[in-house]
Order: sequence, then C-alpha cells, then structure tokens
Amino acid sequence: MILTDTHTHIYYEQDELNLLGMITRCVDQNIHRLFLPNVDIASQGMIDKLVQAYPAMCFAMAGLHPCSVKENYELEIDQIKAHVQTQKIYAIGEIGIDLYWDKSTLTIQREAFARQIEWAKAVNLPIVIHCREAFDEVFEVLEGYADAGLRGIFHCFTGNIEQANRAIELGFYLGIGGVVTYKKSGLDQVLSEISLDHIVLETDSPYLAPVPFRGKPNESSYLIHIANKLTEIYQVDLAKIAEITTANSKLIFGI
Ligand SMILES: [Zn+2]
Repeated sequence: MILTDTHTHIYYEQDELNLLGMITRCVDQNIHRLFLPNVDIASQGMIDKLVQAYPAMCFAMAGLHPCSVKENYELEIDQIKAHVQTQKIYAIGEIGIDLYWDKSTLTIQREAFARQIEWAKAVNLPIVIHCREAFDEVFEVLEGYADAGLRGIFHCFTGNIEQANRAIELGFYLGIGGVVTYKKSGLDQVLSEISLDHIVLETDSPYLAPVPFRGKPNESSYLIHIANKLTEIYQVDLAKIAEITTANSKLIFGI
C-alpha cells in the first residue's frame, strides 16, 4: 500500500532529527510520496535541501503563494524560475488567490496567478491552486485559460457541491485534507456525491491538523487520519483509498 501526501510543507522543519522522525513516521504509515508546494524564493531553497536528502520520496513544486504576492511579484517569480531551471519540478504551486488574509492585493494576486498559469502551460505542468474566500475570482482567471492543458489540484478543497463540480469540469482534482475530519465542515456530505476518481489526499502540514490532532502542529504522517475518514465516507477499505488516490496523484504529477 502506498499513500501520497500531495501537499506538505514538511521542509519548514529545519531540525534534522525532528525531520527524520517525521519521515520515519510517514514510512510506518505507508506514506511514501510527499509533494512539496512552494511559497516564496526563501522556501524554494528549503525544498531543494529536502529533495536532495530524500530523492525517492520528496518531489518539488515551484511557485509564488498568493499571500506572498507583493508589488515586486514579477521579479520574485523570475527568481523562482531561475532557481529551479536545472531542477526537476512536478507542478507550479502553490498559486492562486487568498482574500481571507488580504483583500487589498487582489489585483496583483490575480496578475501573479495568471502569469504562473501561463508558466505552467509553457512547461506543460499541472498547477496546485490555493483558493481561500476567492472561488469566483479564481474561476474567473481559470476560465480564461481553460483547455486540455489546464489541469491540477484545488488544494485544501472545502467548497460546496457546485464548486466541486465546476473544478472537476475544468480538469481539476480536489485536494482533501484535515478539514474533512472536522465535525461541522460538511465536506463529508459533499464528498459523498463526488467519485474517488477526482480526489487526492493532502495534509498541508504544518497547518490544519486532522482530528484527533486538531489545533496542534500537523505532520505528513497524520495523512492516515484523513485516509481513514475517507474509508467511512466511501465505504471502502484503506488499501482501496490508497490505490485510487495515489493513482490519481500519478496522473496529475506524472510520477
Ligand atoms: Zn500549502
């Protein structure tokens, strides 16, 4: 059995011993594939280090997070592009729009999102979308680029059934994380109407820890609690959840 965490910031852990503990706990839970979304130029270097240390397990992405978009976003995207020029990356992410933390930057967030979608299309890679309180704004940008080349993951999907179907129709998978284990999220009801063929698993560690660790620092090994929740929703065993969601992740990332 192989489980895949399609979205983890495990590279923020700078203590090598703690990191080794996290990696070991993943392996103990059959979590053998970790995909690393980038945030800004500083974190891109942290991702490199982790991929060099665990090349068979850790896979890099590159991109500028919407909460890191500043007036000089073009320069920072260029720096990130230059940084990964000789490296293997598997997606452009995480990119998107976040109106929870800052509405004043909507214009530049939208522009940075669009520029990075164009980058993904030019290099034929999927995108990993961060969308917080910004569904309409994100869809508006995406629809301008909708074609067979546009694909990827709606990371930390917490929307309703209409939004889920809209994302799937545009060629996206839904990244399901710890929120699905929260009692009042309603995400379990949405998922009960969505085929597993459109789902991938993620922790978004160190954020959004699933029950029973809610409110504590998250780590990739807790993916098992998200996978177990899906066994209840879909009434299939863990091996089946692992098989389908890992197969989906391979289709997206090409590895
Ligand atoms: Zn993230």
